[in-house]
Amino acid sequence: LSNKFYDIKNNFFSSGKINEKNIQDGIKAIEEALINADVNFRVVKGLVKRVKEKALGEELIKSVKPGDQFVQIVHYELVELMKSDDEERLPITKDLTVIMMVGLQGSGKTTTCGKLARYLIKKGHRPLLVAADTQRPAAIEQLKVLGKTLGEQISEERGEDFEVPVYSAPQDPPPKICKDAIPIAKENNNDIVILDTAGRLHIDDALMDELLSIRKKTKPDHVFFVMDSMTGQNAFDSAKIFNEQINIDGVVLTKLDSDAKGGAALSIKEVTGKPVKFVGVGEKLDALEEFHADRMANRILGMGDIVTLVDKAEQLMDEEKAEEMYQKMVDASFTMHDLLDQFQMIKKMGNLRDLMGMLPGGLGVQMQNVDIDESIFSRIEAIIHSMTPQERDMPDIINGSRKLRISKGSGTKVQEVNQLLNQFREMRKMMQNMSKSGMFGNMMSGMG
Ligand code: GDP
Ligand code: MG
Repeated sequence: LSNKFYDIKNNFFSSGKINEKNIQDGIKAIEEALINADVNFRVVKGLVKRVKEKALGEELIKSVKPGDQFVQIVHYELVELMKSDDEERLPITKDLTVIMMVGLQGSGKTTTCGKLARYLIKKGHRPLLVAADTQRPAAIEQLKVLGKTLGEQISEERGEDFEVPVYSAPQDPPPKICKDAIPIAKENNNDIVILDTAGRLHIDDALMDELLSIRKKTKPDHVFFVMDSMTGQNAFDSAKIFNEQINIDGVVLTKLDSDAKGGAALSIKEVTGKPVKFVGVGEKLDALEEFHADRMANRILGMGDIVTLVDKAEQLMDEEKAEEMYQKMVDASFTMHDLLDQFQMIKKMGNLRDLMGMLPGGLGVQMQNVDIDESIFSRIEAIIHSMTPQERDMPDIINGSRKLRISKGSGTKVQEVNQLLNQFREMRKMMQNMSKSGMFGNMMSGMG
């Protein structure tokens, strides 16, 4: 989806002037991109209508930079579609907080229990996992393995023993298991209880009765519907039914890493009335991200997702350095030195494709598209390495003869040097635009 939006936006950016016709064309292209990405038809209709009203209104016609203004209108509407009323993803205010996961079979409940436990441990909590899926014996074992793996991971990171306990009682009915887990958590000095409940392939009364009984007996503080982003329209129907019958607080959208279209995130709130709280982006325990509407809108519009990138970076480098990088983007004083730093950091963080998509501008989108092949990375690094420090600070001084020297030094073609310089300029321009439009300000508040 972000590639499509990137193209659309580029067309607006490149033609300085704007008229009713290219606005109509731009809106038409957005409509098509959304429908192709499986965004719910009603959602598309509403969004297009609102964008059209604003874009064709006086606001845009009078604007000095209609292209930017147009993108801002779309940005605003995307955020409105996805945003959650409370900023905090998962407020923990009590001595003992109960979180209940519900959803269909295979949606990712058990995996998400483990991921959420890790997320909360990182914030200083001590969760107890509860295996309340007695439908499939393997589910209990799966949760136990997750708890053990997570305990080992944290122990290694902290250099001291850390255990993630898993409570199970296969002979008991699930509502009893969940109820019994609460005093056990208190005794064990856990401050969070995460309930992994059973799913079915299809919604049936027995499942709903069981879940309602668990809800009644444990009074969970948060009930999350876990939804597989790959299952399309069916998943929305079940989300709606779960919400009507169980009353969910939010959605965890899983398998976003394998959902190339990425349309689900845009429809959930409109269709179910409940916001997305987290997204799953892989099978591993650390593959869970907080969902923030403004970050997602930036990503969709090809403006990158700098805040998430910084979040990830913070896990690997010290906070100060990450903050410095972010500040440079905000001031648009980002240089080739920083780009090189960032590349090296990204290489350490793994999953290059996803991470590149978080950088603003065409470089990010383009690199996300190609099969990233370390060699492309190395070539760009080689080019930057062949620049003098002054050139890295002020790439604008790089003229023809300098380009030739750089290409020879790095063993690349002059066109490649040109391409990198163009993309860098564009990236910086985008940072400037975002800075001026106050978008960074919004992102800053998202950083909390
Ligand atoms: P449950 O039946 O709802 O408990 O689902 P599971 O947690 O057992 O997950 C079903 C499958 O989906 C497992 O193979 C998981 O590894 C996989 N899975 C869960 N979340 C994600 C995700 O975010 N990305 C990917 N790629 N796979 C996931
Ligand atoms: Mg399960």
